[in-house]
Order: sequence, then structure tokens, then C-alpha cells
Amino acid sequence: MTEHPTNITANKKTRELSIVWDDAHTSVYPFDLLRAACPCASCRGGHENMKPEPDPNVFVLKMAESSSTRLANVVKTGSYALTLVWEDGHDYGIYNWHYLRALCPCEEDRKKFGNAGEQKND
Ligand SMILES: [Zn+2]
Ligand SMILES: [Zn+2]
Repeated sequence: MTEHPTNITANKKTRELSIVWDDAHTSVYPFDLLRAACPCASCRGGHENMKPEPDPNVFVLKMAESSSTRLANVVKTGSYALTLVWEDGHDYGIYNWHYLRALCPCEEDRKKFGNAGEQKND
């Protein structure tokens, strides 16, 4: 499966980021979901917790509206990722295409990636 965006739009009014993928699928991410899923080591609680797919908890976590859930800028990082810059100045999160696709909140992608993100506790 190829995972490449053909179009990326951030809408500050609806507080959503939309990505159109090259398989014609459109993902719509609320800003607070993106912030909750920030893949950087500090948000994930250490390098050992950094995973290729988002933690399932990010879909139930609700973040209050604040400068940390307001997207300030979207920066293309190489040909493989986006860096999201937040109004509180946080800009460590590099969201690669696979991570973003696995973060798509639609039902179809939740079914596809939901189990992949499941982990055993030991
Ligand atoms: Zn982060
Ligand atoms: Zn989807």
C-alpha cells in the first residue's frame, strides 16, 4: 500500500487538518487528536514508547482547547512527513505518512489499524 498525500489543508476555523491520499481517501483530523497523538519522544514518554502507529488511547483522550491544541503551522519534512507546529511552541512532532494514515479516525481505518496498535501489557 502506498501512503502518500496529494493534498494537505489545515482549516483553523473548523480546527481540522485534511489529507487527501493518493488512493483518493480523505482523512480529517481534529487538531486535538493530532496533538494528543504527537509522536515525539517527550509526548510519548521516552524513545522506547515511540511506535510506528499511534497509541489507541489517543482516540479516547480529549484535550481541552488551548494554545497546545491550536495548530500554528504545518511544515513538510523531506518527502516522508509533516512537522506540526503548535501555538504553545511545541514543534518536535514529526508525523510520517504511515503514522498519519494509521491515525485516520474514520471507521474503515480504525478497523484496519485499530488492532495493529494494540499491545500486551506485561
Ligand atoms: Zn510532542
Ligand atoms: Zn480513513
